[in-house]
Amino acid sequence: MNDTFRHKGLRQQLVNVLIDKGIKNEAVLKAIGKIPRHRFMDSGFLDHAYVDKAFPIAADQTISQPYTVAFQTELLNVKREDKILEIGTGSGYQTAVLLELGARVYTIERQKELFKKTSKFLPELGYRPKSFIFGDGYKGLPQEAPYDGIIVTAGAPFVPKPLLSQLKVGGRLVIPVGEDVQIMNLFIRKGPKEFEQHEFGEFRFVPLLEDKN
Ligand code: SAH
Repeated sequence: MNDTFRHKGLRQQLVNVLIDKGIKNEAVLKAIGKIPRHRFMDSGFLDHAYVDKAFPIAADQTISQPYTVAFQTELLNVKREDKILEIGTGSGYQTAVLLELGARVYTIERQKELFKKTSKFLPELGYRPKSFIFGDGYKGLPQEAPYDGIIVTAGAPFVPKPLLSQLKVGGRLVIPVGEDVQIMNLFIRKGPKEFEQHEFGEFRFVPLLEDKN
């Protein structure tokens, strides 16, 4: 499925919807205006690729709603060359947004099927994270720590301690916390043991799961 003028037009409309909903970061809007989201979706949902909604991907998971991707990325405040850890690779769409912003991205997925599919697909589109990891996001990725930013794209029942400890001083953790409904949380590391916490609105994510398969 190529990227056509029609797709580009639909993407620009999506960007306008995100602006209306309050997204301001130019680099984030530009990334969403550029990435062919329809390529990240299964054929049955192609017509909906530029609607501001989440949709099913493989393994009972979802590609996050564009507004959610934009909101989380804005909170992460990514600068070029920042080292970013993403928990929940899924379709790879959020990964692509981070790469468009010039970040060095490490991305973890716990479902083998998605890990295999996306680690093959993203480079074919020209998106190359530093590493795709098949593993458990609750543990983070200590061997590459510390990070400028960590983004969790599944609903966490609690804030995993390893993620806080793998942030640089000044680094940011963006994580939706809660069981059925999640509150978007931003933690900023102010010192070795000091964190500032900010809470934003309600979001709905698939759960961050333990025990990989
Ligand atoms: N960023 C993705 C969102 C996918 S949904 C996108 O843009 O498409 C959340 C993803 O988190 C799913 O792929 C799910 O398999 C994964 N996930 C759930 N629990 C996890 C864990 N403990 N570690 C890593 N990934 C996890």
